[in-house]
Formats: sequence, structure tokens, C-alpha cells
Amino acid sequence: MVILMLTSSVVLLLTCAAFFTYELTTFKEKAFQGLSTLGDVIATNSTASLAFDNESDATEVLSALKARPQIIAAALYDSDGKLFARYPAAFPADSFPRVPEHDGFRSEGSRLLGYMPVVQGDNNRLGTLLLESNKSAMYDRLTRYTALAALVMLVSLVVAYLLAAALQGHISRPILAMAETAKAISQRGDYSVRAAKIGEDELGLLTDAFNHMLGQIEEQDRAIRESHERLNLALKASGVGTWVWDITNSRMSWDEFTYPLFGVQPGAFAGTYDSFLALAHHDDRGRVRAEMERAGATSEAYESIFRVRWPDGTIRDLSARGKVLPGTTGQLSRMTGVFWDITERKRAEERMKGLVVELERSNKELELFAYVASHDLQEPLRMVSSYTQLLERRYSDKLDDDAREFIGYAVDGASRMQRLINDLLDFSRVSTRGRPLALTDVGEILGTVRANLGVAMEEAGAILTSGQMPQIVADAGQIGQVMQNLIGNAIKFRNGTGPHVRVQAVESESSWEFSVHDDGIGIEAEYFERIFVIFQRLHTKGDYPGTGIGLALCKRIVERHGGKIWVESKPHEGSTFFFTIPKRDHSGTA
Ligand code: ADP
Repeated sequence: MVILMLTSSVVLLLTCAAFFTYELTTFKEKAFQGLSTLGDVIATNSTASLAFDNESDATEVLSALKARPQIIAAALYDSDGKLFARYPAAFPADSFPRVPEHDGFRSEGSRLLGYMPVVQGDNNRLGTLLLESNKSAMYDRLTRYTALAALVMLVSLVVAYLLAAALQGHISRPILAMAETAKAISQRGDYSVRAAKIGEDELGLLTDAFNHMLGQIEEQDRAIRESHERLNLALKASGVGTWVWDITNSRMSWDEFTYPLFGVQPGAFAGTYDSFLALAHHDDRGRVRAEMERAGATSEAYESIFRVRWPDGTIRDLSARGKVLPGTTGQLSRMTGVFWDITERKRAEERMKGLVVELERSNKELELFAYVASHDLQEPLRMVSSYTQLLERRYSDKLDDDAREFIGYAVDGASRMQRLINDLLDFSRVSTRGRPLALTDVGEILGTVRANLGVAMEEAGAILTSGQMPQIVADAGQIGQVMQNLIGNAIKFRNGTGPHVRVQAVESESSWEFSVHDDGIGIEAEYFERIFVIFQRLHTKGDYPGTGIGLALCKRIVERHGGKIWVESKPHEGSTFFFTIPKRDHSGTA
């Protein structure tokens, strides 16, 4: 309203001032014109009195000016410039200029005056007429004009005021409605409120846009709340606490999940960087400070593990991660991150490390024991075996059938024990006597295995087929043992005669998968795991000879190479043994 009133007042004032100035100048011109016309009439009427030097006539002519109240004085000068007649006649002669001045009009103070020639005929100058007029007409007019202007201004301002009062509602009501809405939202945080739309004009459009914006904010607010909820749940479930370090002001703020990690109540933490450092274990404090400040200065990712000392003396291990946030001034001034407790994990890791060391030690001991035992058993066994064989050879004709049969059992037992000891020796040597891994042609290995198993294959009428075999990085001797055991088993556990054994290799991205397939007796699914355990056999030695070490040996060898071994089988249909060997470069690195 103030703007409207001010604008209209200034416009009116400027308009009036312009008219006023215009009026002032035109009035002067008109007044001079009037004076000159009047002067012409008086001059024409005075020519005779001047020509005949008749002063009373001249005074008579001048006295006609009485009809013009604005003419305050007039005078006639003769051709010599002497005052000839004057008006009003009562005015003393010396109150008029003694001689006429140049022809022309001018304004002097509150008077207008003009000198005009009195001419007879074409250019016979008889004298000069002086006319003096006051400006009262002009002042009257100007006064009237001012009063009118003031009236117009007053009326205009009243009209402007009424108009503004009526119009301002249109403008301010929608704006006030929006302001009210904005206030309600900022006070209650309720984004579902909308501003009332008043009218279909630009302000209506603005209200629509404002409400649309509110809709988007509401949607974003909902999304933020949701993700906040999710984050809170995740933080709570995982025991992760978040922190913000205001580097510039050396302050640190924690969320509710961080306090328990430091064993303090929210009120007991001063919220400063130093009070955080004070909670770090004194042996780690310097490092924590250095690491955090380095990350803060270089804006590198921050990652650390340190101990904290709870006020009750408990020591806990915390893991921390953080990153620098660009500050509002464009300088790096804030860092945010997370803490979580890894005490249990660290303890478990330490326990595990201890167990691994212990396991390795006892494994080594066992290996040594198995090696020494089997090695040392060989000698007496050889003695038993050779002497029973000697007994059999030399005294068989002196012994009765029972004794010969018993000696046969002893010889058989001794040779089985020999096999067992050899197998055990092989088993114990997998890691101790293994050779370094080198580029190995599996096709060549298969050739050797085929030769080694030649007799058994011939006896069984077995057929061995193989696909394209790769070159792998492995211990050739051990891979040969695996192949020989698997193929040997495939022939041994055959279904009737003429078993068919198929060896294949399939390449994957990171390893080679070998398979040995047979059409033998098969294995029940429940034994798939057990058969790889040492001494575990599914048959008596009467049905199928063996020591129960073969598959356990294969498992150890494959695992030494970083691979896996397993079986798929159906009873009476056949079995397929699979094993993988990871790909390595020639140096043996996987
Ligand atoms: P062994 O061959 O000396 O008995 P292994 O460790 O080689 O010992 O095998 C363990 C057991 O797994 C065998 O006794 C046999 O019961 C079963 N087995 C192994 N290979 C096959 C196969 N190809 N078909 C059926 N059963 C098998």
C-alpha cells in the first residue's frame, strides 16, 4: 500500500509541477500580449492628443484604463522623451521614470511593464507609452491552480488508497497464506500442509508451484526418514557408531551407538576431540592422533584399529574408518566416520592363530611319527617275512598241511602289512617329501599310469579312454599317484568283467577339473564323505583287497595343490571321482 500511495503521490506531484511551470511561462506571454494589445489601442487613441500637444485629452485617454484594474500605472512621453500625461493622474510625476526606456516588455518584481511607440502614419513617432500592470491575475490563477492541484491530489490519493486497499488483498492474501504454511511447516516439521490457492492469476501459479515444491520436499523428507530408519537399524544391529569430527573447532560429536563403544554415558563425554583422544588407550593415543590428523590434513581415507580404555578399566579393541567432508568454506574442515568393536573378533583371531600353530605342530609330529613308525616297522617286518618265506621253502616237506597253511597265512599277513606300511609311508610323505610344483604334462602321466596298471588292466579286461589332457603346474609324481589310485580303484571295484574307465579334463577360469569315470559297483551317497577318511573301506579285504589309504592319500595330495576332491555315484551304475587343480604360473603361484 505504501508503495502504491508513494508512487501515485510522486506522479501527481511531478504532473502538477510540470503544469505549474507551463502555466507560469504561458501566463507571462499572455500578459505581455494583453498589455501590448491594450497599449496599441491607447497609443492609437493618443496620437491626436500628442500631435496637437493636448495634455488633458491624453490624460482623458489614459483614464479609460480605469476599466482595467490590473493596470496600476500608465504614462505618455512626447517625442522628446518628456512625461506628457500620466495615469492615475493623482500620482505625482516623479513617481514615473523621467525618460522612457527602450521599447519592449519586462517583468520587474511584482510588476509587468512595457514601453510602446506611439506612431502616426507609417513611421512618424510621436512619443512613447508606458504601461505597468500588476501580477495579481497571475497570482490569482496560480492560487486557484494550486488549490485545484491539491484537491486533485487529495482525491487521487484517496482513490489510490481505496484501490490499493482493495487490490492488496489479492496480492498479499496468497503470499500471507504461503508464509503461514511455511511457518507451520518449519515449526511442526509437517510437510503434508498445503497453502490455499486464491485466484487463477500469477499468484495462483506461484501457490501451485509452492505446493508442488512442498510435495517434492515431503517425498524427499519421507525418503530421508526411511533411509535414516534403515541406517539406524543397521547401525544398531551391527553395533556400529558414527562420529563427526569438526576439525576447525576441535569438536567431536557421536551418535547414540558410539557411547557404549567407549563405555561412557552420553552426559559423560565432553564432545571435544581431546576428550575422545583421552579415551583411547595411552599406548595407542599418539598413533590415533597422528593417523586422524594425517587423514584430516591430506583428505586420505582414514582406517585404523586401536584400543580404548573404558572408565571402569576394561580394554576394548575398536576399528575405525572415516573420510573428510568438504567444508562450507571450500576448505577441508570436517571428517566423518564409524567405530565398531572388534574385541571378540580379535580374540577369536588370536585363539585361531594359536590353534593353527598348535595344529601345525601336532600335524608335523604325527607325520613324523607315521613316517618313523612305518619306516622303523619295515625292518622287523622284512625279517618276519623273509624268515617265514624261508621256513616255507626249506621245511615245507617236513611240515604237515596245517603247518603249511599257517605259514601261508603268515606270509600273506606279512605282505599285506608290507603294503600297509608302504601306503602309510606314501601318505606321511605327501607334504614332507613332496617335490616343488612344476609344469607337468598330464597326458604323459596317464601314459605312465597305464603302463603301471598294465597287468591289472589285462586281467580285468579293462578299457581306459581319455580326452585331451592339459599341461598343469603340479607335482608330477603326486598327480600320478592320484590318477593311479583312482584308475586302480575304478578297475578294482568293477561290475563283472571288462570295465570301461574314462578320464577327462575340463578347463574353468581358475582351475582344471579332472574326472575319472567308471561303470563299476558304485557307492551309496551316505559314504561319499567317509571313503576319503584314512582306513575307511566299504568292503572286507576278502571281497576287495586294499588298505583304505588310497583315497585319503588322493585327498591330501589334491589339497596340497589347493584343489578339492569329491565323488558322484549311483550304486550298481558306476562312480565318477572329480578333483580340481588350480591354475598357477610356472613359478607355482596360484
Ligand atoms: P582301498 O581301495 O584300499 O579300499 P580307498 O581309500 O582307495 O581304499 O577307497 C576307500 C573305499 O572307497 C573303498 O574301500 C571302496 O569301498 C570305495 N571306493 C573307492 N573307489 C571306488 C570305486 N571306483 N567304485 C566303488 N567304490 C569305490
